[in-house]
Amino acid sequence: AQSRGAIEILAYEPELEAETSQRFTRSRDLYRALHGNEISIELQAQVDLRSGRIIGAEALARWTRPDGTRIPPGEFIPMAEANGLIVPIGRQVLHLACQALERLRAGGFPDISVAVNVSPLQLGQRNFMQEFIATARDYRISPELLEVEITETAAMGDYEAKGQLLRGLRDAGFPIAIDDFGTGYSSLAHLRSMPATTLKIDRHFVSEISANSGEHMIADMIIGLGRGLDMQVLAEGVESQEQAQWLLEHSCMQAQGYFFARPEPLDAFIQRLSIVHA
Ligand code: C2E
Ligand code: CA
Ligand code: CA
Ligand code: CA
Repeated sequence: AQSRGAIEILAYEPELEAETSQRFTRSRDLYRALHGNEISIELQAQVDLRSGRIIGAEALARWTRPDGTRIPPGEFIPMAEANGLIVPIGRQVLHLACQALERLRAGGFPDISVAVNVSPLQLGQRNFMQEFIATARDYRISPELLEVEITETAAMGDYEAKGQLLRGLRDAGFPIAIDDFGTGYSSLAHLRSMPATTLKIDRHFVSEISANSGEHMIADMIIGLGRGLDMQVLAEGVESQEQAQWLLEHSCMQAQGYFFARPEPLDAFIQRLSIVHA
């Protein structure tokens, strides 16, 4: 009886069994999805608040089943992080982002940048940096147009090793954005030593800007922090004119959110650029 492991105990819980087998089926589906080209990206515009011009886009992974059903990233990204598939998915997203940059250049928009999300698991891969640099080089992408987004939490854990890796990417010319900033617990001392170029204010703090809850104080502090550290600050999840106005008045010059544009396929993004930048 002593040797009965957790798995055996779990197997006797019918509900957990169902859940485990569903998770297994989903993992297998995700594996097939990756090899069946069901993973694509959409691009969400990032704008300069002063000029109203589009300066870049964030690449967001999408999973579309052959029958057209879409599985939200909030479901499949955590799963991919748990089963390791985030590594090949991230690789695919990087290739798609480079292809998007190629198309933007060919379409007459050579200054538009594209940001990719990089998970901590990818950062932990031995050859991550070399592979990233080699991929960008293969597509002949100017490094300053390909931005790396890492969440605050991912950037801060094991910060010496990660700091070194990120510094390598930074030295190679790639901009680095700290994603979801304000939601983690980074110390200011560590932040100062990070080679980041941009702080992205998490949309939670942006969503509170119009309500009189005091949360806009946090957005204000992050803007000040970014300025003090000589980093750009971009507000995520901007959904209203009021928020955009507030940000501009408080010296946050870059924004992203449904108020400007939803994530969209590359063709639609290029279409948008040709209208806005006509
Ligand atoms: P994130 O990196 O914080 O990406 C921003 C998310 O906010 C996106 O959700 C975007 O569609 C959504 N969003 C943008 N503007 C607004 C707005 O005005 N209001 C609201 N309510 N939401 C807005 P999405 O595409 O569902 O992605 C969710 C998360 O999944 C991402 O959050 C990111 O953490 C992860 N993710 C997506 N693609 C990738 C990827 O290629 N690699 C990795 N590692 N993670 C990814
Ligand atoms: Ca992001
Ligand atoms: Ca974010
Ligand atoms: Ca997020």
